[in-house]
Amino acid sequence: MVSKYDLIVVGAGALGTFHAFHAAAAGKRVLLLEKDQRPVNATVRNFGMVIASGMSGKWFDYGVYGTELYKSIQQRFDVSVRNNGSVYIASDDDEQQLLHELKATYDTKGYRAELLSQTQLLAKYPAMKASYCREALYFPQEVSVEPNLFIHKVHEYMLSSFTNFEMKRATVVTDCSVSGSDVAVTMAGGERLLAERAVIASGHEFRLLFPALFKEQKLSVSKLQMLRTKPLPKLAMAGNIGTGLSIRRYEAFKECPGFANMKTPDHLLELESYGIHILLKQAIDGTVIIGDSHEYAKIGEEENLGYQLNQHINDLMLKEASRIADFDMTNLSESWAGYYGLHDQEDIFEHAIEDKIFITVGIGGKGMTCSAGYAQENISKIFNQ
Ligand SMILES: Cc1cc2nc3c(=O)[nH]c(=O)nc-3n(C[C@H](O)[C@H](O)[C@H](O)COP(=O)(O)OP(=O)(O)OC[C@H]3O[C@@H](n4cnc5c(N)ncnc54)[C@H](O)[C@@H]3O)c2cc1C
Repeated sequence: MVSKYDLIVVGAGALGTFHAFHAAAAGKRVLLLEKDQRPVNATVRNFGMVIASGMSGKWFDYGVYGTELYKSIQQRFDVSVRNNGSVYIASDDDEQQLLHELKATYDTKGYRAELLSQTQLLAKYPAMKASYCREALYFPQEVSVEPNLFIHKVHEYMLSSFTNFEMKRATVVTDCSVSGSDVAVTMAGGERLLAERAVIASGHEFRLLFPALFKEQKLSVSKLQMLRTKPLPKLAMAGNIGTGLSIRRYEAFKECPGFANMKTPDHLLELESYGIHILLKQAIDGTVIIGDSHEYAKIGEEENLGYQLNQHINDLMLKEASRIADFDMTNLSESWAGYYGLHDQEDIFEHAIEDKIFITVGIGGKGMTCSAGYAQENISKIFNQ
């Protein structure tokens, strides 16, 4: 039997979408399947920060690739990419030292990084508080996207530019298995499609497909709480803003020589216990996204994360954010939780079945930045290009 598709991708979040994108760009016949009418998981619940500067090792390279790809797509089709840079603000000696060390690393790599004095920082970001801000590291080349728009726009772009690309929404895949020389993909309702290969990028949904395989892995789910202010049209706060706790959390900083000697001041202890680090991002509509926290549950115990938003966590985030910046945080328009899967020991979980089905889940907190670059390399491997 002739395979109808060269590739079927399950899951239309960032990871699945960019696998489909690169395969379609390479001329393959691609079908992207998404269980929801439109994706509503991690890929649309995040900040939309594309911050290669925070990544380490090959993930930094994927992030740089993704940034350039996003910019190039934006030139052809509005997918909500804005080139407003990223900044990390240090509030004490330890954090300041890491800024200098990371700048030295990026100077060696030729990745543009600019130190901003307190005066320069406050001139550029007038809403920041002088009492918090010591110094900052700025990456003018970095971009952000609008998470509630981006992936849907990328789908529109792909449907309009690739005649060899199709997408089926509201389509739950219930089985995927090797059948002779093909992969057979079965959907709820019983419809069955064939492809030469399949990519499974099902995010933190570990119970629908390959539950026994996933159960054996050291996978977890993280729940992140997020807040959004009402529109603040007079506030000008462009780009991705990371703060002291981000410097204490991001992989790129963990590789700096001074990281091992970092001490956590008493006032940050409770925040760190909830995995809180304050990121701020003003959306196109003038609202400001404030987040985030991190709580974890082992695979199989996801319900322990609760369906509620913990008000104490929201209060802690708002208190810390108001130590950093001066804008109206009393008028919130919404708050929500996002979830992503992660592997406890690896950067991502990959598993291949008979070189035909390629499972790739658990990219953690770096998927908006790194999915496009990672998927480009993975598609080349999958099709041995
Ligand atoms: C609150 C929050 C903030 C974040 N901020 C950032 C940030 O600023 N920058 C950054 O780089 N990263 C950020 N991240 C991480 C990033 O959002 C994730 O790494 C990325 O979105 C994961 O993409 P994914 O495609 O693996 O998963 P998902 O977005 O979860 O997509 C998986 C898709 O698969 C579908 N699916 C699952 N099972 C099936 C099935 N059986 N059949 C059909 N479809 C199925 C689901 O419906 C879903 O749409 C953040 C994450 C969160 C939660």
